[in-house]
Amino acid sequence: MLDKRQFYIDGQWVAPQASHDFDVIDPSTEEVCAVISLGDEADTNTAVAAARQAFDSWSQTSKAERLVLLEKLQTIYNERADEMARAISTEMGAPIALASTSQCGAGSSHIKNLIRALKGYEFDQPLGDHAPDNRILHEAIGVCALITPWNWPMNQVTLKVVAALAAGCTMVLKPSEIAPLSSLLFAEMIDQAGFPAGVFNLVNGDGLGVGSQLSGHPEVDMVSFTGSTRAGIAITKNAADTVKRVALELGGKGANIVFADADEKAVMRGVRHCFNNSGQSCNAPTRMLVERSLYEQAVAIAAETANKTAVNTASLEGHHIGPVVSQMQYDKIQGLIEQGINEGGRLVAGGLGKPEGLEKGYYVRPTVFADIHNQMTIAREEVFGPVLVLIPFDTEEEAISIANDSPYGLTHYVQSQDSEKANRVARKLRAGMVQINGTFLGAGSPFGGYKQSGNGREGGVWGLEDFLEVKAVSGWN
Ligand code: NAD
Repeated sequence: MLDKRQFYIDGQWVAPQASHDFDVIDPSTEEVCAVISLGDEADTNTAVAAARQAFDSWSQTSKAERLVLLEKLQTIYNERADEMARAISTEMGAPIALASTSQCGAGSSHIKNLIRALKGYEFDQPLGDHAPDNRILHEAIGVCALITPWNWPMNQVTLKVVAALAAGCTMVLKPSEIAPLSSLLFAEMIDQAGFPAGVFNLVNGDGLGVGSQLSGHPEVDMVSFTGSTRAGIAITKNAADTVKRVALELGGKGANIVFADADEKAVMRGVRHCFNNSGQSCNAPTRMLVERSLYEQAVAIAAETANKTAVNTASLEGHHIGPVVSQMQYDKIQGLIEQGINEGGRLVAGGLGKPEGLEKGYYVRPTVFADIHNQMTIAREEVFGPVLVLIPFDTEEEAISIANDSPYGLTHYVQSQDSEKANRVARKLRAGMVQINGTFLGAGSPFGGYKQSGNGREGGVWGLEDFLEVKAVSGWN
């Protein structure tokens, strides 16, 4: 078992000021794999003070100076990728192949894309020819609190930390207490890259402790948060008294609209996508809306794909799905499956309980419900497990209306070989992202949601601008 009871503050590894031990559980085995400390208010204050102290000089560094350090960080991150993949796989249960490719890889590509965004960014711009003595200056917002979840740990940490560093901000990172090991390793990399003391600080803690202390802290200028809508609301309220900027990346209930003219792999692709990372992705396509003429065939394909989805331990090589992250998450998913059955959903694959032979570990059976209507709990709430619902529709308008009938609006998906129709539908979907026919959003594309999915945009230029203030100056010569 690893002893990780330390924080990274003001360029040093330091012991916590009080002792609040917290066990990190390996979800594949239910065993304790590490112990961390949950910070106290004194730890939070020390970290914020270090970030405040470092801000004046870091915010005045040139783009070129920041790029040198970010490029060093990129090299170190790539050199230590195997360690990072193992940390992620152990703390949150992603199978090692997924942890090495998508999970760890997401961090690597965000670092690369944010470096590219920084290189091309003009912090100092003219207003226009009509006002030649006016300049618009983009400046670092200040000390940032970065609060991240456990489901794609390095994806979220790099989107925040690297963007904030690139913008010239200083920061305190509070990673998820459930999956803190990857962030502790990331802090080692920052240290190794040689960022000045106080620019980046890490304090472990839970939401009610360090999380709330940061969101209400008078010396914190901005909170960038990724996690549940529940916590996003609490943070926004707590930040209101000090009028902080609050950037939120919250939950989702992605609709995947499959028209009758979709390509033949569309249904299978949609099911696999939903189950990827054991369904623990905010942008998972969890509601498959299928045009009536294709519906029964889609139900059969979805059931077959679910039955063929292997579930196994995270340390095993291969393309199975791993456990879900915790007992709490497992119980929540079981409760929602039960509710789906009780509300009249037709269970066509999976269901309650653990897959055969996997009694220890938080393993969930890949589950598909047919004949769901959009008002059922299982169609409205984010399950965050390998659970897909299928909903039939008759017309394009009805499909759009069902997709948009959700408090969330993160990512929706459209499957059709009629590109005019697919584009038309994409325009009408109330979501921050739409992916057509299994395509991927390009490097540096903005990630974020409409409605209760949040208000920020992360990645690329938009991610950088999240951490910048805008200053208008007249009389500039
Ligand atoms: P969570 O909201 O419980 O926790 C996320 C982080 O917030 C953790 O670090 C936690 O300690 C902290 N936290 C919790 N309550 C807090 C409070 N009151 N004040 C300050 N900090 C607080 O979420 P989770 O269970 O870790 O993650 C799963 C959720 O994250 C899902 O709802 C998922 O959809 C969402 N998510 C969204 C995105 C996105 O970009 N839109 C990406 C990944 C995950």
